[in-house]
Amino acid sequence: LDPWQRSPLLEVKGNVELKRPLAKAASRLPLSGRRLKRGPDQMEEALEPEKKRTRGLGTRVSTTYPRAAAFSSAPQMQGQTAVPKAPRKPAPRCSTAVAPVLKTQKPGPVVPVQKPGTTAAPPMVGGKKPKRAAWDLKGQLCDLNAELKCCREKKQVLDQENQQLRDQLQEAQQQALALGAERRSLEEELTRVRAQAEQGQRELGNLSARVLELEERLGTQEGLVQELQKEQLRLQEERTGLAARLGEQERRLQTSEASLSDSQEEVASLRQEAAAREAVLAEREDRLHGLEMERRRLHNQLQELKGNIRVFCRVRPVLPGESTPSPGFLQFPSGPCGPSDPPTRLSLSRSDERRGTLSGAPAGPTRHDFSFDRVFPPGSGQDEVFEEISMLVQSALDGYPVCIFAYGQTGSGKTFTMEGGPGGDPQTEGLIPRALRHLFSVAQELSGQGWTYSFVASYVEIYNETVRDLLATGTRKGQGGECEIRRAGPGSEELTVTNARYVPVSCEREVEALLHLAHQNRAVARTAQNERSSRSHSVFQLQISGEHAGRGLQCAAPLSLVDLAGSERLDPGLALGPGERERLRETQAINSSLSTLGLVIMALSNKESHVPYRNSKLTYLLQNSLGGSAKMLMFVNISPLEENVSESLNSLRFASKVNQCVIGTAQANKK
Ligand code: ADP
Ligand code: MG
Repeated sequence: LDPWQRSPLLEVKGNVELKRPLAKAASRLPLSGRRLKRGPDQMEEALEPEKKRTRGLGTRVSTTYPRAAAFSSAPQMQGQTAVPKAPRKPAPRCSTAVAPVLKTQKPGPVVPVQKPGTTAAPPMVGGKKPKRAAWDLKGQLCDLNAELKCCREKKQVLDQENQQLRDQLQEAQQQALALGAERRSLEEELTRVRAQAEQGQRELGNLSARVLELEERLGTQEGLVQELQKEQLRLQEERTGLAARLGEQERRLQTSEASLSDSQEEVASLRQEAAAREAVLAEREDRLHGLEMERRRLHNQLQELKGNIRVFCRVRPVLPGESTPSPGFLQFPSGPCGPSDPPTRLSLSRSDERRGTLSGAPAGPTRHDFSFDRVFPPGSGQDEVFEEISMLVQSALDGYPVCIFAYGQTGSGKTFTMEGGPGGDPQTEGLIPRALRHLFSVAQELSGQGWTYSFVASYVEIYNETVRDLLATGTRKGQGGECEIRRAGPGSEELTVTNARYVPVSCEREVEALLHLAHQNRAVARTAQNERSSRSHSVFQLQISGEHAGRGLQCAAPLSLVDLAGSERLDPGLALGPGERERLRETQAINSSLSTLGLVIMALSNKESHVPYRNSKLTYLLQNSLGGSAKMLMFVNISPLEENVSESLNSLRFASKVNQCVIGTAQANKK
């Protein structure tokens, strides 16, 4: 920086050495208002006296040192003189005095100093220095010396002053440098501040934008706030409503709790009651069980009183197309208690031609009276018949083996009695389906007392001492593969038929299906061998197993329903053709098995040590259904026709023999 060009702080006048730079500077220095109003000529005029004074050596140095003021009031000096000017006084001609202003460092007017010892200058005339005479060379020399001395002093002073000014200049330069540095820092500061200001401006812009945005948002927020206030109001209302409802609910809850505690008390008392009732129930169950066992015992006793072997006689009705027998041929005398008594007697009238011929007297009818446990005249229905045997069937559930036979000549109604009439008419339903339905129903009742029953059915045919399965299906159907009667296991008393199906049954429909299948199998066989069914025994067996898990009781017994082969005999007087021989063999087999059955019953009745069960397949198969613990019932089926009287008599006689047998006290197969 050029301090002369820039510094507004310095003004030097009347200094020759400084004149040029000062003049140059003066043009740049700020001028007082007064000086600014001057034109260039005026400026020249203003300088003129000084030029004159310089030429006339009347130099008057007036220096000002505006340092302090310059620093303190630089801005104020703009437009006015930097230094207050001393009032101009006419300087003395030889003024050697230079004000020691530098020592005081104070700006002020220059005070001339009178130096003692100098030659006195010629007195002033009219304010002007008097001119020495040309001759007064000495005086002139003296003046000149004085002036020279003065000039030297002035020079010395000026040198000092110059030095001081140089120092000042240096100082000023340093100051200027410092100021420049300061200025730079200030400028940097300014730049920074400007940058900051710009930044601030930007931020302000951003902030105002944000403010605008916030105001907008505030606007929307206000809308939202209003909505929220509405919502709040609504919610408050809702809350009030809910609080009311809550109160209501609480009241209801309290009442509910009250009723709950009541109910709990009630439940507790009911539980006590239930426990008491359970105890009573258990006691009653015990009593019921006791009663059931008692019932079984009494039932058995009753059955025993009725006889462990009973014979029922059933006379079938005369069928359409058959000749009606003469009146009185069959009579059913009422019992001792009158007609309301179930008939037990039957009398058959037979005109004995041989006796009449022998005695020569006219042949009169001979009455044959028979008495059985029950006699069913032709009008008796299937239900009536079953009612009479239902108690016996029930014994099988109590664990007593039960065996029911149908004995009689072919066509006397054995199959009708056992299986039922043709067409599946429920009225004519036979004993087998009825017995099973009854068993299922009683088993169901007993399940309430803790008994669980299971039933397994088998149905076989014994023809000419061979056993065939009537329940065979598939490839074996109709042909009925050879079956053998075997013990169920080593040491087991139970007998089983090999190759025969044992089908578990639990409802009537299953039994119906089995009977239907057996009927079909018999029909197939019938085509191969004429009327085979009447020549064979059909044995339907039901293995009944009962268990009372609660009391650890078990019982098992077979129920056997046997449709025996026709009991008719061949007339020995008839000539035997090839077919007849076969028939004879069949008949002999039948007779053999039937007579074996009779013998077995007799042996059992007489308590013989040997019972010939094994003499026929039939008795062998029925071994467990006959004998000591078994209950036996024989139906003797009788044809109502006069032409069958001989066979009827034979059947009745056989049945009478059986009826006279009493098998030892039956025992339930309890385990
Ligand atoms: P079996 O089996 O002894 O040879 P069936 O049972 O086949 O005799 O009976 C021969 C005929 O007599 C059949 O047509 C049968 O319907 C009929 N029948 C048998 N008993 C009765 C009865 N109690 N009521 C009506 N019809 C019967
Ligand atoms: Mg038959």
